[in-house]
Order: sequence, then structure tokens, then C-alpha cells
Amino acid sequence: MSQPFHSRAIVLSRENFGEADQYVQFLTQNWGVITVLARSARKSKRRYVGGLDIFCHDDIFLRGDPRERPYLNELSVLNSFPNLRNDLEKMLAAGRAVQWIRRLADMATPMPSVYSLLGQTLAVIEKEPNPDRLELLGLLFKLKLLSSLGLKPRLEACVRCGETESREILFDITGGGAVCRKCSPRELSSLGEVLSEDDRHFLIAGDQLKLTHWDQFEFSREKSSALSRLITQFASYHTHQRLPV
Ligand SMILES: [Zn+2]
Repeated sequence: MSQPFHSRAIVLSRENFGEADQYVQFLTQNWGVITVLARSARKSKRRYVGGLDIFCHDDIFLRGDPRERPYLNELSVLNSFPNLRNDLEKMLAAGRAVQWIRRLADMATPMPSVYSLLGQTLAVIEKEPNPDRLELLGLLFKLKLLSSLGLKPRLEACVRCGETESREILFDITGGGAVCRKCSPRELSSLGEVLSEDDRHFLIAGDQLKLTHWDQFEFSREKSSALSRLITQFASYHTHQRLPV
């Protein structure tokens, strides 16, 4: 008998297979995103102790190579985020985060920073009492995820001339980042969006903010949601994925 493979993991999705089984997609700490077969998952809820619901944070033990659809031997639940499940806005916010990971990071490659990001994000959503702040959290999550995957927009300097001093810049979605006034033909405002200095700095530094200091961050819901839309358009354009806003 081979020793079971073990990792911490977060449930991203699951689907029924055959009469009684389920395929479960996990973001794991050790192997990236993998799919495992949970035998009898639909018949015996007790065996997996409620740990197969989306967002559950588990310790999982596998039989077989993690990259080749192994069996789920057993699991124990670290956190099932009960307060998140009782709240529709929180469920939607958590669902969007999971969709971003499924669309952009569906790879059986170790991505410890992506794993930590999702775990932390779910924990913050679970605790956050103010639904208005979920928009800001969503924006930070997206910036951090794009940064982890090397997909961050280039906003430090104009993507065309390299100018860093310009105060007036446009976020050129198709061009991949900032374009200064000098380089923008008159019609560019139809292609991109003018960014204030505040917004630009937020987008440049947002991925460095630590979620452990989440309580100290402030940014209006309005601004967060406008920037979040912009980042979603940017990421969708460059990855050819339909991403939820
Ligand atoms: Zn320029």
C-alpha cells in the first residue's frame, strides 16, 4: 500500500459522476488545482464529514498521483466558513473569487501564494460585518491574483514612451496599462479610462497590501467598484476568459 498523499486544500467545485460518486476540484497547498474522485460522496455524507461543499478548507488524503485524478481517501475539515454561508452577499463575493481562480489558475502546478490568497480572502469575507467593504476586498483579491500570475497591468510608466512623471494618464486596456497624455491620440479616451493619481497609486500598490491588516484599509465602495470593473475588463481582454465583475 502506498502512503496517501496529503495536503491542505479548498473546494472550488464538484460535479456528480455515475450513481454515487463526485469529482471534486480543489485548490491545494501542495499541487495547485487538481480534481479528485470522491467515491460514494452522494450516498455517504458522513464519510467526508461535510467537507465537500464549495469553499470548505480541508486537510485531504489521497490515493494515487495528485495530477491523475486520484481517489479521495479521507478528509478533515479545517474551516467550513459557516458565517459566509448564511449571507448571500458573502456567498456571491466568495463565489466570484473562486471563479477567478478556476478561470485563470486551473493548473496542477504548486501555487502557494494563490492558495494562501484564497484562504485569507475567504476568512476575511467570513468575518467582515460591513457588506460595503466586500467590493474593496474583491478588488484587492483580483490585484493580488493577477500579480501572483504575472498578469498585473503596467501602470508605473507609460507603456509607449516610458514616461513616469505624467500626472494625467489613461488606462489603456488593450495596450496593457498606462498611456500618458503626450502619447494618446485624441480619440484614446474612447479606448481607455482616465485614472486619477489616487486610483493609479492604488492599482500599483494594492497587491502589496497585507490582508492581515485588512481592518485598516479604506477606499470607497464607489471607487472600489469602478476600479474592479476596469481590472476585470483588463484581465478578461488579456486572458480571453469571461470573468465575473
Ligand atoms: Zn507616453
